[in-house]
Amino acid sequence: MHNKESFRCCICGHENKRSRSDMHREVCDCSCCESSPRSRGVALAVMKGICADASVPFELQRPRKDLRVVGMSDGSLIERIMTEKFDYTNTFFHKQPFLDLCSQVSAANYKDLDIIICSDVLEHTFATPIEVLPNLRQMLRPGGLLILTVPTNHMPNTIEWYGGAVCPPVPEKQELGSWVVRWSDRRGNDYIDQHPSFHGGPGDTLEMRMISHSQIAAEGKRCGFEVSNLEFKPDAGYYWSLLVAENYFDRRDARVFMMRRES
Ligand SMILES: [Zn+2]
Repeated sequence: MHNKESFRCCICGHENKRSRSDMHREVCDCSCCESSPRSRGVALAVMKGICADASVPFELQRPRKDLRVVGMSDGSLIERIMTEKFDYTNTFFHKQPFLDLCSQVSAANYKDLDIIICSDVLEHTFATPIEVLPNLRQMLRPGGLLILTVPTNHMPNTIEWYGGAVCPPVPEKQELGSWVVRWSDRRGNDYIDQHPSFHGGPGDTLEMRMISHSQIAAEGKRCGFEVSNLEFKPDAGYYWSLLVAENYFDRRDARVFMMRRES
């Protein structure tokens, strides 16, 4: 029987002993396939999206090579399991096969997709989510599914760290090893961000914004998606604590969104 001290990985089926309170979104804690709660959330969303029996581990699902799936800088585990089951392409911003979500022209290279996996990307794009979501929508066939994860927080509005920037801000390493970001707005004012936040290590991927959970859901609806949250499934290893705090920055939600293109 499952209890609060174990989960059965929904990707590989391995039984893991782990206290629910110790589960963190990004920690690769399946001792067999090394999946994280976030990657298990993505796998569950895919299974739900194609009406597969999610009590069967992803790796034992029957391949559906008729389904076209595109990911964006997916990690090696997601890339491997999606390649095994689907007609899958992982895309990148800096290398082939290219995809720049901010560009309608670039997005137009992908059409009639059944599923898009966009996991922890929209907090890094130069264009804002409300500008990017229509490009994602155009890539899907009607009824196609966008599986969207972002490190959202419970706050009324998304905060743009570089709002109105005229071009993508470039991080600069300082003599003492710290990083700053210089940027200019469209009125010609210059700024220095002394406290930039990076994901994947210092100087790596710049956090452009802190995304409001409710705002991005509303933006998805505005852009022609039917939006739902994938509820946690702790027994399958898709779980992390939703923090309740006074400070916006600590009110993390970040559950997986399923956004279905309406027509
Ligand atoms: Zn596993």
